[in-house]
Amino acid sequence: MPRTTARIQHASGKTNSQQRIPALLAVAAVMLAAIVAACSSTPTKTTSTTQNNDTVALETGGVAAATLPSYGQPQPYDPPGSTVTTSRAIEPVSHAVRSFADVGVWFGSDFAGARLGRVFNTSDSDFVAVVKPENAPINNSPWYAFKVWSRARRTIRLHLTYDGGDHRYTPAISTDGVHWRQVESSRVKRERATGSAIIWLDVSRDTLWVSARQLLTTDAVKSWEDSLAQLPFVRLDVIGTSTQGRPLRRLTIGEGAEGEVLIIGRQHPPEVTGAWALESFVEALAAETPLAASFRQRFTAQVVAVVNPDGVDGGHWRHNAGGVDLNRDWFAFNQPETRAVRDAFLGAVSNPNNVLFGLDFHSTWSDIFYTLDSTVTVRNPLFTERWIQQIEEAVPGFTARIEPSNLDSPIFKSWFVRQFGAPAVTYEMGESITRQRAQTIGTAAAEQMMKMMLAEKREG
Ligand SMILES: [Zn+2]
Repeated sequence: MPRTTARIQHASGKTNSQQRIPALLAVAAVMLAAIVAACSSTPTKTTSTTQNNDTVALETGGVAAATLPSYGQPQPYDPPGSTVTTSRAIEPVSHAVRSFADVGVWFGSDFAGARLGRVFNTSDSDFVAVVKPENAPINNSPWYAFKVWSRARRTIRLHLTYDGGDHRYTPAISTDGVHWRQVESSRVKRERATGSAIIWLDVSRDTLWVSARQLLTTDAVKSWEDSLAQLPFVRLDVIGTSTQGRPLRRLTIGEGAEGEVLIIGRQHPPEVTGAWALESFVEALAAETPLAASFRQRFTAQVVAVVNPDGVDGGHWRHNAGGVDLNRDWFAFNQPETRAVRDAFLGAVSNPNNVLFGLDFHSTWSDIFYTLDSTVTVRNPLFTERWIQQIEEAVPGFTARIEPSNLDSPIFKSWFVRQFGAPAVTYEMGESITRQRAQTIGTAAAEQMMKMMLAEKREG
C-alpha cells in the first residue's frame, strides 16, 4: 500500500497577488461568520471559518491528488496536514494468529482494541513485533494490544518496533482481559536510538494479554452507561452513528433549566486515564449526594463519553475510521462523529446563553488544563482558573499545568467557545497515573464545579 504524504504550502511561498486574494477571502469569511453568529441563536454551521491561508497538497506516490483548504491552525505537535479532515484510507489490523509452532509461541489480535502488525522471530525466545498506525502521518501515540501464549512455561523477549512512531507506553498485562497490572519497569528496556523497546514476558498455555494501556473498549463503556441510565434522573440516547456504524451514545443528567454543561471524551483512543477521569466526573454528577441532587435540580449535563468508538475498538493510535484526527475537525465537520455531537448538543440546548462550561477529556504526558488566553472573551472568564485552584486545594499533591491558548485550532474547545461564548477546557490527565488517582481527581473536579455553579447562581 503506497504511503500517502501531505505537504503544507505556506502563504509565504506565494507571490504578493496570490497572497492577497486568499487573505481577503479569509477576512470576508471571518466577518460573514461573525455577523451570522451574532444574529443567530439556533444551530448553524457558521464555525467553519478558514483560519489561515494554507493549502495542503495531498500527494500519492509523488502525484498531486487534490488541493484542499485546511481549516484552522494545527497544534505545535501535529504532523503536516492534520487540519485537513476529509476522509482518507486506514489499514485494518489482521486478526490472524501469528504462529511460531516450531518454537511453540503464538500471538493473537482477534479482540476489540487489538493492534499488532507483522511478527517474526530471530531466536527461540526473541520475537520482533512491528506496530503500525491506522494511517500516516500521525501523532506519536503508538498503541498496541495483543494476546500471547506458548506450549511451555517460559520467558520471551519481545522487541516492540514502530513503523511511524517511537515507543511511548509501558504496557499493562492481564490474564483475563479485564483485570490489569502494569509491567514492572525493570522488565522493559527502551532503545532510544531506534525508538523501540524490549519487554520480557512470562508466557504459558494460559493467554497473556499485553496492551499499551489497560483496555477500555466501547462494550465496557456501554455497560457503564447502561447502569447509570437505570437512575431516574439519567437519560441515555443514541445521537448518530460512527463511520463504521457504531452507535454514538449520550447521557443526559439532571433536569435543571438554569444552566448546561457539555462534556465529551475519547476523541483519541489510547487516552484511557482521561476516560477514567470522565467516568468519575460523571458519576459524581449522578451521585446520591445532597450536592449532586441540588446540581441536578438546577442544571443539566450532556455527556458523550466516546466520540471515536471505531478508533477505540479498532486499536487506533489517534484517528477515526475516516483516518483523521477528530479533534481537528471542529471547524470543517467533515466526519460523522463530530457532526453528530455538534448537532446533538445544539439540538438539546434551548438557549446558548445558558451554556456554562465545556469539558473535553484527554490524556497526555502530564496533568495539563488547556484553558483560554486573554484574547478570548467569554462570559465568566475567571471560572476555569478558579475551578482548577479548587481542585488543587481538594486533592492533596495535585498540581496541574495551565496552558492557555486562543481559538485558532479546530478543536472542540474552539468550537464550543465560538458557539456558546462560555468557558471551556481541554482536560488532560497524565497518561501514567493510576485508575484510583484519575478517579480521585475526576470526582473532585465534578464536585468543585457543582459547588461553584450552585454558589455563583445563588449570588447572581
Ligand atoms: Zn487527546
